[in-house]
Amino acid sequence: MKPTQQNQFDKTSFQNSVKQHLSATYATTVEHASPQQWYLAMGRALAEFTTLDLLETESDKRIQNAKSVNYLSLEFLIGRLTGNNLISMGLYQQVAQAMEEMGHNLTDLLEEERDPSLGNGGLGRLAACFMDSCAAQEFPTVGYGLHYEYGLFKQSFQDCHQKEAPDAWRCVEGYPWEVARPELAQEIGFYGHVEVYQDEGVERRRWVPGMTVQSMPWDLPIVGYESDTVYPLRLWECRAIAPFSLASFNNGDYFEAQHSLIDAGNITKVLYPNDNHEKGKTLRLMQQYFHSAASIRDILRRHIQSGHSLASLPDYETIQLNDTHPTIAIPELMRILMDEHLFTWDEAWAVCTKTFAYTNHTLLPEALETWSESLIQRLLPRHMEIIYHINHLFLQEVRAKWPGDVAKQQKLSIIQEGFHRMVRMANLCVVGSYAVNGVAALHSELVKRDLFPEFHELYPTRLHNVTNGITPRRWLKYCNPGLSALITDKIGSEWPADLDQLQGIAKFAEDGQFQKQYMSVKKANKQRLADWVQDNMGIALNTDAIFDVQIKRLHEYKRQHLNMLHILSLYYRLLNDPDFDMVPRVVFFAAKAAPGYHLAKEIIYALNKIAEKVNSDPRVNDKLKVVFIPDYRVSIAEIIIPAADVSEQISTAGKEASGTGNMKLALNGALTIGTMDGANVEIREEVGDDNIYIFGLEVDGVEALRAQGYNPYDYYHADPLLKSSLDLLLGDEFTPGEPGKLRATFDSLIDGGDPYLVLADFASYVSAHEAMDEQYRDQAGWAKKAILNTALVGKFSSDRSIRDYVNNIWKLESVTR
Ligand SMILES: *Cc1c(COP(=O)(O)O)cnc(C)c1O
Repeated sequence: MKPTQQNQFDKTSFQNSVKQHLSATYATTVEHASPQQWYLAMGRALAEFTTLDLLETESDKRIQNAKSVNYLSLEFLIGRLTGNNLISMGLYQQVAQAMEEMGHNLTDLLEEERDPSLGNGGLGRLAACFMDSCAAQEFPTVGYGLHYEYGLFKQSFQDCHQKEAPDAWRCVEGYPWEVARPELAQEIGFYGHVEVYQDEGVERRRWVPGMTVQSMPWDLPIVGYESDTVYPLRLWECRAIAPFSLASFNNGDYFEAQHSLIDAGNITKVLYPNDNHEKGKTLRLMQQYFHSAASIRDILRRHIQSGHSLASLPDYETIQLNDTHPTIAIPELMRILMDEHLFTWDEAWAVCTKTFAYTNHTLLPEALETWSESLIQRLLPRHMEIIYHINHLFLQEVRAKWPGDVAKQQKLSIIQEGFHRMVRMANLCVVGSYAVNGVAALHSELVKRDLFPEFHELYPTRLHNVTNGITPRRWLKYCNPGLSALITDKIGSEWPADLDQLQGIAKFAEDGQFQKQYMSVKKANKQRLADWVQDNMGIALNTDAIFDVQIKRLHEYKRQHLNMLHILSLYYRLLNDPDFDMVPRVVFFAAKAAPGYHLAKEIIYALNKIAEKVNSDPRVNDKLKVVFIPDYRVSIAEIIIPAADVSEQISTAGKEASGTGNMKLALNGALTIGTMDGANVEIREEVGDDNIYIFGLEVDGVEALRAQGYNPYDYYHADPLLKSSLDLLLGDEFTPGEPGKLRATFDSLIDGGDPYLVLADFASYVSAHEAMDEQYRDQAGWAKKAILNTALVGKFSSDRSIRDYVNNIWKLESVTR
């Protein structure tokens, strides 16, 4: 049965299948099953359809003979699948009806699903949106990731401090959408040594690992929108195999093998919780190699089983590296081609450099990965040899281009010299890939100008831009059913597959009737969020207030502390300026801090303390509320985003590569207050200057200020409102009887030198907020701007991003089934 052919959906047999799963899979009965068990049984019944379609797609000869993209990412922040899959399968209404008849409300059942949080933030969410868009447009795709036992930690607040708890996202019964594929399991090696041997006069090398583990794939279905095409998101789980490391016992690496015993079962235990920050931990490198090796083997298996020769790999497979995390796949493919398939170096290199493409996600130095040479040498000795040789040949090119320029060689070398020699993964990626892209126009320009200028000279056609995007199925149709229905009423129902059609609602932007409808949808969404906050946090909110939203990872460059200073300035003025008037405002935060990021955690603590005081201070008179929603994740984003009036995108110019939260919020009719950074620049181009609030220094202004010697004291002493706001952090206003408990943020901004120029942008930020406050008083004018945001951001559909990859980089064709 084709589930997407809605008229073929047989309700009775579906209901029987759910009941069957209740009894046979979950050992319960219709009378006794809990809502959790109903959700699980419903999920299993639906997954029967998608598993069949997955297998059919996999064995489709046209797909096997077409070119596919393999998206390699250590993170896929997919969020809950059930509701989204129902939309893609075209079965939402039918299944709602079928469950209703069995006494269950679908919306409530969907709340039973725990988010699979297999990513940190934007990078992992992008991978999930891209899978959705590849499937929707039927570009042959396999996603490769890791099946972490624990996803991103759960966050709670204890006395206003962040507390982390493990996230066992699969309940004991397992996740209903995943299917194990034990027939595709493989063995992956680590440690050991390299043997040299003679093969008919040719010297060859082979790696003898000191330990091996097993990679077990789990497939999640990525369902094409209103189609029967289902591609796999293949997640590798690491399992220990016994005997543990026979080879090592026999060749004397006994102690190394024993040592490794501890790590083996742990490789896919837990997702590393760092966002835009790398710390060179051995286990992390093991995760990276495990992921790359399992994925490369699987790609080659598919290629060979489809009857193609290895030399033709680039004609059938392209491998997109999501950041440098899977870089080790490049020497791994070299190793397999040379050591196992006896390719010469040149033959193997020709295949590799036509197969890999790399996406750069950041310019932040602390996020650029380097791995210690000695660690790679120990863990992956054959790969280190291959990296040396890649570098050797590459440096010959550099010397030919810039004869005698030693500084250039040192700068570009894949090996960073020094006491601890390090391997620069980004350099390896650029050398080993046929295309490198940044993720927004501004970011890609900075990649060319600042990060890789010499590479750009050496390989002038290699660097590209592909501006990020978001899937409109999840981030409008599914999360905002009210607005979706209103849009469909005006322009028909095809926009989720062709987001540029939203331009069709621009002509209603000044239509008073439409404005009222649009704003009443917004109001209902605000009420839904207010109810959530009341039920879960016990804070009562007024939906007439401006809902001002900053939701993203907690990071200094994202400047939640700039937002904090604005809140402090409002509080100060409410208490001290009798002429001050403001539209009531609720400032929402949601953000996790990396567990080892001290200042980020202090900022969370301060915001929670400020919220405690401000929300109950009678002098504030309910004009200002601060709500820090715990445990930011996809499912809570789906509630906050449709309810937002104001979208905070306030990173220091040049620091946010793209951002995608900015796109989700604009699409749902929030007005952006933002810097000229990342994709904000392109959002402004699309919606027009009148419909966005841009403030602060631009990239060149930031550079000029730094060059002239930035001194935060100058701003502190020159601006009384800034000084009064900052000084609130020194006393005991928010921590009665304990002055100075919030001073970590103050110290970083004053004595710490304010590395992200918060003070420099404060005045401009406050003015932009004042302009928004003024505009909000004119509801018709506000509605017009909000409608135009929804209407004009069609560019930011991830369908467009994927078409850009397909046309400019991957060069492949869709296969319609
Ligand atoms: C979209 C999204 C992000 C990325 O947000 P930015 O504002 O672009 O940093 C992070 N986490 C979740 C859960 C998201 O949905």
